[in-house]
Amino acid sequence: KKRPLPKPKWMKETIPGGAKYAAIKAKLRELKLHTVCEEARCPNLGECWSGGETGTATATIMILGDTCTRGCRFCNVKTSRTPPPPDPNEPSNVAEAIASWGLDYVVITSVDRDDLPDQGSSHFTETVRKLKALKPEMLIEALVPDFRGDPGCVEKVAKSGLDVFAHNIETVEELQRMVRDHRANFKQSIDVLKLAKEHAPAGTLTKTSIMLGCGETPDQVISTMEKVRAAGVDVMTFGQYMRPSKRHMPVSEYVTPEAFEKYRSLGMEMGFRYVASGPMVRSSYKAGEFYIKSMIE
Ligand code: SF4
Ligand code: SF4
Repeated sequence: KKRPLPKPKWMKETIPGGAKYAAIKAKLRELKLHTVCEEARCPNLGECWSGGETGTATATIMILGDTCTRGCRFCNVKTSRTPPPPDPNEPSNVAEAIASWGLDYVVITSVDRDDLPDQGSSHFTETVRKLKALKPEMLIEALVPDFRGDPGCVEKVAKSGLDVFAHNIETVEELQRMVRDHRANFKQSIDVLKLAKEHAPAGTLTKTSIMLGCGETPDQVISTMEKVRAAGVDVMTFGQYMRPSKRHMPVSEYVTPEAFEKYRSLGMEMGFRYVASGPMVRSSYKAGEFYIKSMIE
């Protein structure tokens, strides 16, 4: 049996804590919002929530519950074939809570809901609409499942009024089967991104992310980037895969910060509007700050 790889020093980031973090937690309880940032104890929380150089505060919110109908090999989310039904008041409640919170850029995401006739797409659409109605200046990214490739679901969300349509392909084309649930695949995800680009109003960005360190080769990363770019995707992000527990697939490699930087500059050469790439990067990492900077440049 192979022993797990030791963590290199660039991965040893501190998790958020202290009085300020406790105050944020209390506020979120009051608003009844579930943020991925806080629940996953994301080490980027300080950077994202402060808004960085542009003062554009970003956070990621979960809708549609905490139980997924799929089981990807890298993911720590609870799984069930029959999760509880969605709360019909959630779109309004979430929209009001986000609008009152003082964020500038919100990533709205969910588990996969293969059990629902519309795959959860109406819930996304309603949440975006209600939030834009309450706070038109809020930048909204929807980070959506593949909706099983259903074109109607994709079109509806793409036309909801969002600013960024994101769907993660998670890994290179060659490792899809090993890493993702069997109901997901590369072509279906690329088609979702293409359809979104086709239906969304001009100026809407599309975005995807992959995790590195799953056993992919640099050539596979580059050819995947080319295919993503050819699908009209505007933004791509790269982060290190981190194993949530021993039940999950092992880390094959800790990719160096230099290699991440190479993918970033290569991506910019390929014509992506922006690329976030680094060991601690997650798909929502400083998304608001990067979005604003990419609009200025
Ligand atoms: Fe939240 Fe994503 Fe930033 Fe982490 S990277 S703090 S999950 S917005
Ligand atoms: Fe996790 Fe998403 Fe896969 Fe569900 S579909 S197991 S939430 S990565």
